[in-house]
Amino acid sequence: MATKWNDIAYYQVPTDDSFRLKPQNPDFTGEIDGKKQAAELLQGGVEQLAELQDVLYADGRWGVLVVLQAIDAAGKDSTIKHVMSGVNPQGVKVSSFKKPSSDEMSHNWLWRYSKEVPARGEIGIFNRSYYEDVLVVKVHDLASKQGLHESLTGKKLFSHRYEDINAYEKHLTRNGILVLKFFLHISADEQRKRFLRRLERPEKNWKFSLSDLEERRYWDDYQDAFESMMRNTSTDHAPWYCVPMNNKWFGRLVVTKTIIERLKALGLSYPQLNEAQKQALEKGREMLA
Ligand code: ATP
Ligand code: MG
Repeated sequence: MATKWNDIAYYQVPTDDSFRLKPQNPDFTGEIDGKKQAAELLQGGVEQLAELQDVLYADGRWGVLVVLQAIDAAGKDSTIKHVMSGVNPQGVKVSSFKKPSSDEMSHNWLWRYSKEVPARGEIGIFNRSYYEDVLVVKVHDLASKQGLHESLTGKKLFSHRYEDINAYEKHLTRNGILVLKFFLHISADEQRKRFLRRLERPEKNWKFSLSDLEERRYWDDYQDAFESMMRNTSTDHAPWYCVPMNNKWFGRLVVTKTIIERLKALGLSYPQLNEAQKQALEKGREMLA
């Protein structure tokens, strides 16, 4: 039987180290019949998400951290734009992480991200995240240039970082922050097409950067780093979702659906009024009558 596109367990990365990136199919679109049907489903999802966010805010006991990681041109920005298009901007904050400043680099590596973690009641989106410190930092061997003593940058560096991430995400989870992590998966060929489009279409020109092409030479190293990241940091408290993204319209749908399902599972509710609050309502009604 064909996999139902909306079975979010299908995209969830196992926690037992068995995950391999190569066999994952970035072209997967389940039984969805093209862009048009996807757009309709997305619209429904966006509305549902808006309702859930309203309760999340009112409930106030849970926060949500959405982490997006991917190779260049996979569609992080447009995913955020579409998935969050219906939610109240007051309850959402997007944080994008670029190369760390020297101030940021002089602190422990999780420091700059910690400051951006959402409060309970809020949705925070990390456009890139602390995972860059086991991705670009690994691919380009940057740790030794970030001011750490050499005794701290040995062979164990990345297994220690995975450990720290797992502990940190447990810490967040134990504090009411739901951690949802999405890896947007595209093929090398699809990335090439998207870069070409940036060159060809005037309205996309501004997105083109030669350095993205330089990075493309490290494609295999990045794939290895992504795979290792997911194998080591997909946990019961914060699993990774590997999202097929060669068709952006499909990937966005999967991200939306996953956030909705995970929010629903929290059992959110509007606060119940106590006696005094109920009396205050009654009094308010009388005063306005
Ligand atoms: P994006 O590529 O996410 O759409 P952008 O094109 O606006 O964003 P870039 O200049 O590409 O901006 O900024 C992101 C760059 O910062 C990436 O190359 C990324 O690898 C790098 N970066 C992010 N976090 C770190 C980090 N902790 N250490 C080193 N480099 C980092
Ligand atoms: Mg970029």
